[in-house]
Amino acid sequence: MPEKDVAMFGPLGGPRLLLRRLREVMTEPISPQERLDKIVIHIAANMVAEVCSVYVLRADGRLELFATEGLNREAVHLTTMRAGEGLVGLIAETAEPLALADAQHHPSFSYRPETGEEIYCSFLGVPILRGGNTLGVLVVQNRARRLYPEEEVEALQTTAMLLAEMIASGELQSIGLPDNDIALHRPLVFQGVPIADGVGLGHVVLHEPRIIVKQLVAEDAKKEFDRLDMAIDAMRQSIDHLIERGDIGPGEHREVLEAFRMFAHDRGWIRRLREAVATGLTAEAAVERVQNDARAKLQRQTDPYMRERLHDLDDLANRLLHQLTGRSFVTAHADLPDNSIIVARSMGPAALLDYDRAKLRGLVLEDAGASSHVAIVARALGIAAVGEVANIIDFVEPGDALIIDGASGTVHVRPTPDVEHAYAEKARLRARRQEQYRKLRDVPAVTKDGVPIDLHMNAGLLVDLQHVSETGAASIGLFRTEIQFMVASKFPRMREQETFYKAVLAEAEGRPITFRTLDIGSDKVLPYMTKVEEENPALGWRAIRIGLDRPGLLRMQLRSLLRAAAGRQLRIMFPMIATIDEFERAKALVEREVAYLRRHNYVLPSDLKLGVMVEVPALLLQLDELCTRVDFLSVGTNDLMQYLFAADRDNKRVASRYDPLSVPILRALKCVVDKAREHATPLSLCGEMGGHPIEALALLAIGFRSLSMSPACIGPVKAMILATNLEAVAGFVTSLLDVPTGSPSLRARLHKFAEANRIPV
Ligand code: PEP
Ligand code: MG
Repeated sequence: MPEKDVAMFGPLGGPRLLLRRLREVMTEPISPQERLDKIVIHIAANMVAEVCSVYVLRADGRLELFATEGLNREAVHLTTMRAGEGLVGLIAETAEPLALADAQHHPSFSYRPETGEEIYCSFLGVPILRGGNTLGVLVVQNRARRLYPEEEVEALQTTAMLLAEMIASGELQSIGLPDNDIALHRPLVFQGVPIADGVGLGHVVLHEPRIIVKQLVAEDAKKEFDRLDMAIDAMRQSIDHLIERGDIGPGEHREVLEAFRMFAHDRGWIRRLREAVATGLTAEAAVERVQNDARAKLQRQTDPYMRERLHDLDDLANRLLHQLTGRSFVTAHADLPDNSIIVARSMGPAALLDYDRAKLRGLVLEDAGASSHVAIVARALGIAAVGEVANIIDFVEPGDALIIDGASGTVHVRPTPDVEHAYAEKARLRARRQEQYRKLRDVPAVTKDGVPIDLHMNAGLLVDLQHVSETGAASIGLFRTEIQFMVASKFPRMREQETFYKAVLAEAEGRPITFRTLDIGSDKVLPYMTKVEEENPALGWRAIRIGLDRPGLLRMQLRSLLRAAAGRQLRIMFPMIATIDEFERAKALVEREVAYLRRHNYVLPSDLKLGVMVEVPALLLQLDELCTRVDFLSVGTNDLMQYLFAADRDNKRVASRYDPLSVPILRALKCVVDKAREHATPLSLCGEMGGHPIEALALLAIGFRSLSMSPACIGPVKAMILATNLEAVAGFVTSLLDVPTGSPSLRARLHKFAEANRIPV
């Protein structure tokens, strides 16, 4: 330990002695009010201040005076102020300490006659923080005009940590004004973005369990400095090691680790940690203190760049805590309680699969959006999920009651009984509706006027397959093979791919599966592949373009598929085909693999069909040539829409600007239907559009007879089909397409039609 640190307060210096005294008070068998009263006396004496007061933030947002030494005792539990009101309110609002030599002339000073504080000139206040949240304010005041040095501010902040623990323990709840919960327990509502539909009622489980620092006060300061130094060294080495080995787990990108490395050497950060130890805290408590500050700033930060940096600091502090406490980073999944709602900053898709599905009721993520990989897995598992919920982790405690509404993106923390009641009712309604859909499982999807419609299911994981029999889907109309690659921590070798495809085919119990070859690139990034920086990734090097430029990859996948489907039917579909030539080249690779396997006496698939996704607009003008060459077509409306309207499907500002239920889109789709019919080419559609009953209704009207969708959509779409007179709706939609209306969307008119004809959409 550098001499300077020891010298800061002397061996039994002010703050350390104070911390020890306070620790003794904490364990005395006295009432919470008596304890608080003793604490303020000790602080005032130790800091040679005439006044020491504790204000606690209540659920109604007011700060209530809970204890004081020096101010009028009658004001305790009487004086309250709003956040932002007075100096105390200002500290609560900014979460920053405030030291003033002449408090009464500060613009925020607010005079409270009942406290008798007008005779005090100097003022030092610090926020009582926990996880970056303000729980209250701790103040000392002096009659004389004085400047509080930096060390005293530090010392008071350290003392405030003990009070934070006391407030968080719930001990003070009983002594406040009646009917006024302290802020820690107040109900909160967060708004995120919907990721996976569903309503979940349950209790918080933190994906990365928070490390609770039990021992705040150091026994031996020198030992704590040494522990801190050792932990910082070890953490730096482990980061270096990770970067050097290139052994980066899913979701842990190189840039993130590089940023960590930079911060791990940040002098300001290290200095703040050492200063906190110098005030008498243990090394882990010092990390928590510095982390509290970073979080408090993070919550008030709107600049995305700064937020990212503060996030990095927060993550780094977490690593240090793990290092100091010897706890590994492995998430504890064992003993997951029933009705768990996982709350995480971010999460790789594989991590979600590690949880026991039967006990999960929901997933709340701070960072991930609807198109993230973990979102895909949440949907596959059928778990309600909400993403982009800023800072929720700081506001919840493990075990807190939580309600998640995956349809609206709302998350209720510690909901009031009426909210809980309303959602329980909603969940019951949903379950009843699901039961009705389940009853439709074996009912053929035939319109009222006798037209059969083929309903298929989209999938991408083995867990998806369990829905095939539940939903009664005729086949897997789209198997997104890239998802298996996205959840893997390294590139799956040929044997692994083959084993996986075999398992998928086995789970499908004889139903056909249309395997789409790797559709990576754009937003679908494989964590173990170097990301190619492109100006317009959606228009960039992706899907079949990568496959044709790196034929080794595509051939490996094709061979795995051909081997897995030995003796059975195999359907392979190529994504993002833009020219006939691309299809021919992809087909040639398949033929080459077939020839290779034949030469080596492998059993080949009994029937091989090759198809193309129609998702690049250029294909719309090559349909005659295409139809004569392919065995089948499937329209990918998700991409086709984004390219036709030139609107990025992942860009929130434009993604929902154009309606798929519009004349140009329906005209384009009708042209595909007409051409496929003319050439007798089997046609399906596997974009999201097919899974929304109202949009599916329009698709049937323009001639689609086969749709593939996520499993949860099959029931509602089938219910729509059973209630539809196809001839009538076809006439209605065709008439809208023929007459130029100038209206961008047909949705409202279609809804009216559905309503008038009692079609559930
Ligand atoms: C599509 O583009 O419509 C499609 C089904 O493929 P993905 O959503 O995987 O791009
Ligand atoms: Mg697509």
